[in-house]
Amino acid sequence: MTIDAVLTRIDAELPQAIDRLMELLRIPSISTDPAWKGDCARAADWLVKELTSLGFKAEIRPTPGHPMVVARHEGPGPHLLFYGHYDVQPVDPLNLWTREPFDPAIEETANGPVIRGRGSSDDKGQLMTFLEACRAYKDVNGTLPGNLTIFFEGEEESGSPSLIPFLQANKDELSCDLALICDTSMVSPGVPSIAGQLRGMLKEEFTLHGPRIDLHSGHYGGPALNPLREISKLIASFHDEDGRVAVEGFYEGVHEVPEELKRQWENCGFDEAEYLAHAGMTVAHGEKGYSTLEQQWARPTLEINGLWGGYQGAGSKTVIPAEAHCKITCRLVGDMDPAKVRAAVRRHVEAHLPVDARVTWDSDLDGAPAAVMNTARPEFEAARQALSDEWNREAVIVGMGGSIPIAYYFKSILGMDAMLIGYANDDDAIHSPNEKYDVKSFHKGIRSWARVLDRIAK
Ligand SMILES: [Zn+2]
Repeated sequence: MTIDAVLTRIDAELPQAIDRLMELLRIPSISTDPAWKGDCARAADWLVKELTSLGFKAEIRPTPGHPMVVARHEGPGPHLLFYGHYDVQPVDPLNLWTREPFDPAIEETANGPVIRGRGSSDDKGQLMTFLEACRAYKDVNGTLPGNLTIFFEGEEESGSPSLIPFLQANKDELSCDLALICDTSMVSPGVPSIAGQLRGMLKEEFTLHGPRIDLHSGHYGGPALNPLREISKLIASFHDEDGRVAVEGFYEGVHEVPEELKRQWENCGFDEAEYLAHAGMTVAHGEKGYSTLEQQWARPTLEINGLWGGYQGAGSKTVIPAEAHCKITCRLVGDMDPAKVRAAVRRHVEAHLPVDARVTWDSDLDGAPAAVMNTARPEFEAARQALSDEWNREAVIVGMGGSIPIAYYFKSILGMDAMLIGYANDDDAIHSPNEKYDVKSFHKGIRSWARVLDRIAK
């Protein structure tokens, strides 16, 4: 591969590449809300058209939910599968956006130009870095690089209900030598990062039932069991004073970070003060005795994501509600087993219920274990060198606080390792109002994939 010519082509083609990304960003492919189903299909169609024009054999694969996109280019070298997702998170609260979420634009900021819009970073901007690298390669060499399968999902932001059956049904087709996933961020701006471990995820929701019906707080206030009071006590019991999860058995399968890796993490350019300040904090509030990075990458959590009940309208209402509700997610690490963690959390809740209270669980919520990659594979070193060349800074093997279950399923269902390389930054506001992707991330992301493919796709 004539890598210099490809890089030059990428630089020259950047404005057109941004235009193509903008087109995709204008499609409101929110997967969780059925109101946007047609737009999810439209995004999938757009990608098929794009891939076909690049010379892939691309097609829509229907599922009971949103369609998958699968594309193939046969060529020499190891069979690489590239994964991304075309669906995006909902945009609420809309009033906090500085522009319409699906009317993307380039905005100048103190840190350089950014592409503002829902999905710009997660994951449309990221997945387009790979396609644009393929395009530049083809423009220069007349053919696509290597031996590639492209696999795009449209349900990543809504729990991937169709993913496991799809992987099982298309196991032969999708089992490649290595997966490349572009859906992660750099440890700090300008520091190229390859994820070596990702936390898993477990979701729970429960209702604490108290009185048979809502009660008058004059007639029953005092004698009544108040579910809001009881659920507050229950939630307070989930953690001890050191920020450690106080659920018995919760830490089974959690391993301490090896000293050598810990040392690498200490020198990976992570700006703790800025990370905390971005969220409006001055200190880390996680488990005592662990660094902020360890709390984010290598320690499990039990978080309350929602808590509600009783009267929430205007004015007051003298009610003792019949029930109270809570949504929980746990981030899992190491060898934690989601089923065991679920059982432990439920045992904890049942054991802390007062007399006359009972609890019901939403049984439809999913979970996935952590994904720990085989970073000893030679492709990791090759990619590390390619990324170091592009960013002029040694690339690091990092952990990831987020959950990308696909990496785990590639391993468990397809027997395939995954290399997660992404160019997002922590201030991209993914899932939040005003999501953005730095133009630099997009541009150097395209160049990075060209360099990575140059080293491993042959
Ligand atoms: Zn994503």
